[in-house]
Amino acid sequence: MQPRDLSDHVAYEAGRGIEEVARELGRDPSEFVKLASNENPHGPSPAAAVAIRETASSVSSYPKAAHADLTSAVADRWDVTDEQVWLANGGDGAIDYLHRAVIEPGDTVLVPSPGFAYYGMSSRYHHGDVREYELSKDDDFAQNAETVLEAYNGDRLVFVTSPHNPTGSTMPLAEVERLADETDDETLVVVDEAYGEFADRDSAIALLEGRDGFDARDDVAVLRTFSKAYGLAGVRLGYAVVPDEWADAYARVNTPFAASELACRAGLAAIDDEEHVERTVETARDARAYMREQIDSHVWESEGNFALVDVGDAAAVAEEMQERGIIVRDCSSFGLPGCIRITCGTEEETEQAVATLNDVLDDLGLETDEADDPDAEVADQ
Ligand SMILES: *Cc1c(COP(=O)(O)O)cnc(C)c1O
Repeated sequence: MQPRDLSDHVAYEAGRGIEEVARELGRDPSEFVKLASNENPHGPSPAAAVAIRETASSVSSYPKAAHADLTSAVADRWDVTDEQVWLANGGDGAIDYLHRAVIEPGDTVLVPSPGFAYYGMSSRYHHGDVREYELSKDDDFAQNAETVLEAYNGDRLVFVTSPHNPTGSTMPLAEVERLADETDDETLVVVDEAYGEFADRDSAIALLEGRDGFDARDDVAVLRTFSKAYGLAGVRLGYAVVPDEWADAYARVNTPFAASELACRAGLAAIDDEEHVERTVETARDARAYMREQIDSHVWESEGNFALVDVGDAAAVAEEMQERGIIVRDCSSFGLPGCIRITCGTEEETEQAVATLNDVLDDLGLETDEADDPDAEVADQ
């Protein structure tokens, strides 16, 4: 026999790993710097690493207390009830839970293009149909209610990524509110804040809770992860914060114990280690500013731990940078064949990446930054 018709389903294309690239090129892994997957250049919180080690001897038990404790800690962090926190196997797991809770076969899901591939993948697993709204390069990928509403057609789920991967743009909360207001009562707006810690913006949790002058509402959910600012991508831990009215749905849709004992213990330690997050965010901000100043090509303003760079030919540039030891993300699979995405590294890694990129642009004859040419800047105005 065969699996069901999977012709509409596509494999997730992750950023390339050091081991994989080194093996392919027949080189030593230590020759490479990986800035392709928006991972934390400082590694995990040291406290989380200790917690994982200490938990090793008790992994024979299913996670129960740790799951409850982490749920409470996250609820405290956001001042919501425990029932509103849906822990999951990564932010991706939380995306699945929201689909399970909302989608009936044939419902449509509206996702950004360019955008994060897993929204559509999850929609298709759950027998939903995927539709797209465009974030336009000409408009610097600006996000507002209008850009989404132009494409909206009664979809059951609408994904907003803020800060957006791979462009780094954000949607102001007032615009998210307008979007939620102007979509049907039965449309859930999911605000994916996987990079929320890196942005100078408040969380959309203010919208569900009716804080900061917003009216409380039951049609917005927020997604967060421990993979980026907390440096725990390898343990797989994320969560959704859902409206109060959704309280009893979690028990009906979650995969039992999907947030593992190791993940929950690591998360509990990491959430208390504010210093590590602050250091991580500071490094990312410095790296973003440095990339914008120093790269000889257009770099979009970003509120994430990465920057999108207009290089003309992403495949050629990414390949040549890889030859020279820097692994970046070719954004062709996001629908941006002219762009690469560079994760903010340590100061040293970022400087090395920028120097390498500038050399590659020069060698390939690809510089595109008008800002370096005063005449072009005048012509632009
Ligand atoms: C990284 C990321 C996530 C979640 O990743 P997990 O590792 O599954 O937590 C969600 N959305 C976006 C846009 C991301 O970039």
